[in-house]
Amino acid sequence: MVDKQKVEAAVRLLLEGIGEDPERAGLAGTPDRIARMCEEIYGGLEQDAAEPLSKTFPAEGSELVLEKDITFYSMCEHHLLPFYGKAHIAYVPNGHVVGLSKLARTVEVYARRPQIQEQLTAQIADALMEHLAPAGAMVIIEAEHMCMTMRGVKKPGSKTVTYASRGCMETEQMQEKIFRMISMG
Ligand code: ZN
Repeated sequence: MVDKQKVEAAVRLLLEGIGEDPERAGLAGTPDRIARMCEEIYGGLEQDAAEPLSKTFPAEGSELVLEKDITFYSMCEHHLLPFYGKAHIAYVPNGHVVGLSKLARTVEVYARRPQIQEQLTAQIADALMEHLAPAGAMVIIEAEHMCMTMRGVKKPGSKTVTYASRGCMETEQMQEKIFRMISMG
């Protein structure tokens, strides 16, 4: 649970710290707005991927499931600035599949918290392995980081790509197959 009072006090202090007047009309409602926003953008902290991944369906003979272009928004834990982009999830079912919308929900569980992209990628892959027990899983994330594009090195449009593979996806042949399927458009 977000402690709204603490967040509001912190935002007021931050505004004072940067030389603003937290009481001026334009900012008066800001601490409350940010506290309510935190419940959404950090809501993944009180969620568990076991929930979206617990309801599985038997499916024999399916060789590969790839869910492409899952849009996500997260917050970089080093700067508390957004990073956002697309996640692609592939897995080789082991007799069971999960509803496609549940893959997007799993991404949200880990994206809606202070995060780094490398860890986000690995956590989704590990959650799939733990709860769905597929023969293998691969997660690829491409994202733009506001802490790269609006400050510091300022490289607008630059993308960071990470991937994590587990089980039977750990071979170069499988990884190349997934990369090819993702770039098919
Ligand atoms: Zn950052």
